[in-house]
Amino acid sequence: MKPTHLVQKPTAVFRQSGALEKGYGKVTGVIAFTLAGMAVLAVLAFHFPQYLTTPDLRKKYDVNLLRDVMLVGMAIAGGLAIVNLIMRRNRWLNGTALALLAVAVAAGGHRVTVGDFPDNTPYLGLDWFLLDLLGSSLVFILIEKMFPLHEKQPVFRPGWQIDFTHFVVNHLLVGLTLIIVNFAIHRLFDWAVYAPLQQWVKGLPFFVELFGVLLVADLVQYWTHRAYHEIPFLWRFHAVHHSAEYMDWMAGSRLHLFELLTTRVSILGVLTVLGFTEASMNVWIVIVGFQAVFIHANVRVPIAFARAPLKWLIGTPDFHHWHHSSEREAIDRNYAAQFAFIDYLFGTAVKSDRRFPGKYGVVGDYMPASYFRQQLFPFTRKH
Ligand SMILES: [Zn+2]
Ligand SMILES: [Zn+2]
Repeated sequence: MKPTHLVQKPTAVFRQSGALEKGYGKVTGVIAFTLAGMAVLAVLAFHFPQYLTTPDLRKKYDVNLLRDVMLVGMAIAGGLAIVNLIMRRNRWLNGTALALLAVAVAAGGHRVTVGDFPDNTPYLGLDWFLLDLLGSSLVFILIEKMFPLHEKQPVFRPGWQIDFTHFVVNHLLVGLTLIIVNFAIHRLFDWAVYAPLQQWVKGLPFFVELFGVLLVADLVQYWTHRAYHEIPFLWRFHAVHHSAEYMDWMAGSRLHLFELLTTRVSILGVLTVLGFTEASMNVWIVIVGFQAVFIHANVRVPIAFARAPLKWLIGTPDFHHWHHSSEREAIDRNYAAQFAFIDYLFGTAVKSDRRFPGKYGVVGDYMPASYFRQQLFPFTRKH
């Protein structure tokens, strides 16, 4: 696709991929369009908080701060769109951004009043999607631009739409996921509770306990991940994750829902049975949430992390990019996410004299290129 055709009509934003040429208002146009679209969704969440916000999350954030963030986002979107329109750049895209902003403002903008609402309705995690998209794109695109591994790889690289769809669905279904995971944990793990062990774990100093959570979680992750590779029936689900041919912060979202649920049930089940406290689990969730995105990012970490002893210690993009390689020496290797030493311990670490793999994806490139067909793929019995 020729870059000059990029980003004309707003619908094209979702269909195209490639670098946004600088100097034509394309980068700013996409930012304006994205922020304006997010503002409309945010207004919707304010109007229907019982159906579009996450109970666990809304207890933690300050709504007034979010209103300010929304106002700033709308001001930036409006400013960029107006300047681009005055300069006659990307009129469709910027015009649509302004139209979306008008819809958001007409629907109450950042000032929508929120009354009392019930706490136990079924919901979509729209607030979680918006906040994580805003925060993660800001942090990770910045890191990827500052320390790129593949310098020529654009933000809108081929296949970004599929990964983005996985990102959207995984976030919106957060409530349903939580119900299924909690239900499954009680059904599958309650028999294993041993109160004296839980008491002992709860009595550990905080940092010892935190290290314990990280280590136990990654050990469980290692073995479930390895099972997903070595058992052919499970591989059909996990192949979805490995079908990404471009690695960046969004690529880690590409997961079959069955794998997302089962991995979460096994890790959280073991952590719950062992009796780790909520405080240590909360810190673990933040660390593992960052790490899960970071190891997929298009980032070149300092060389010290690629050499002993650090490379034996922690999972980095170097380590996990190898896991996604379709090259022979990388197949069924580097399973750990947090602690690389688990792979060295069990003899599954990649041994290569190169620092990075040359190609990502599944051998044979058989994965369909649409979200729904990827979810159906394990049941089609082709592989
Ligand atoms: Zn894998
Ligand atoms: Zn991965």
